[in-house]
Amino acid sequence: MSKPIAARHALRNVRAFRRALLGWFTQHGANYPWRCTTDPYAILVSEIMLQQTTIGSVIQNRRFERFLDTFPDLHSLAEAPESDLLRAWEGLGYYNRVRNLQRTAQVILAEHAGTFPATPEGLESLPGVGRYTAGAVASFAFGYPAPIVDANVSRVLSRLFDWREQIQTSRSQTRLWSWAGQLLDSNEPRSFNSALMELGQTHCSPRSPDCPRCPIRNFCVTREPEKLPRKKPRRTPVKVDEHVLFVRKRSGPVLLAQEDGTRRKGLWKLPERSHGQLADLPLLGTRNYGITHHKVTMHIYRCSPSQLPPSEQKTTEKFHSSRELSDLPMPSPFRKALQELLQE
Ligand code: SF4
Repeated sequence: MSKPIAARHALRNVRAFRRALLGWFTQHGANYPWRCTTDPYAILVSEIMLQQTTIGSVIQNRRFERFLDTFPDLHSLAEAPESDLLRAWEGLGYYNRVRNLQRTAQVILAEHAGTFPATPEGLESLPGVGRYTAGAVASFAFGYPAPIVDANVSRVLSRLFDWREQIQTSRSQTRLWSWAGQLLDSNEPRSFNSALMELGQTHCSPRSPDCPRCPIRNFCVTREPEKLPRKKPRRTPVKVDEHVLFVRKRSGPVLLAQEDGTRRKGLWKLPERSHGQLADLPLLGTRNYGITHHKVTMHIYRCSPSQLPPSEQKTTEKFHSSRELSDLPMPSPFRKALQELLQE
């Protein structure tokens, strides 16, 4: 079915546009747990969590509720040991997000007497809080009339106005934020921002926009929604091989290494060695996983404690009992591999 022709332009019919969008959202908006609160702490947690994790995964695994059960307020988060923090974030990846979240909690307690700034400017002064997150917390928690532009909103707006430039350029970003500000209903910023985001998650999806049933179709200028927004081509993922050891003391403790790199600092994983050091060890299997622009093949070798080749890196390596394993923060591909290895 072809896309209908826009009868009206959103900026020349702003009130009608808002009515159409908000009317649809009132009837069809999803009832996500972070939409049932105006607590800025809970909203900040949800926004940080959803930055690189899909809503489906957060909802399905009750990640938001579980995190708040573990760290219900600024104090519990600010004082948490790093290992508890990383364990609670396990499976979500991009662990710097939770470190920044903790720093934010510490700064709010130390410099703002435990009270969240209520404006986008005040929120943007917090560590790890950018323009989008500041606008989201300001509008969702405080009803402040701040626009927001995330990937979903960018897609809706670039199609709505048939914007054909790459959206990552500063000119495009200025345009998108300006349109978001002009369209925003300052009487209902919370609902309006949620509605625009949700339209991008539902009708205005990346690959198959459902224009005939879209509530704002009468305002939407593009005739080729599938081609928008224009983005920089994605980087081809780099293939990497990782050679790791499964070292176990007589069906008891397992040897793990603690990462000290920047990406997964503090997490525990199977100890790594160079391929040349493992030539005589039996290969137990391989696992594939992806991590920021890398396609990793993990090769797992069995090794007895007495055969252990020396490490060429300065990492902490330690045997852990099965009981300890469940409390240690671990990257998900390693958690999964270890669970399978322990069952074999
Ligand atoms: S689904 Fe997207 S592209 Fe289609 S009419 Fe709605 S806003 Fe426009």
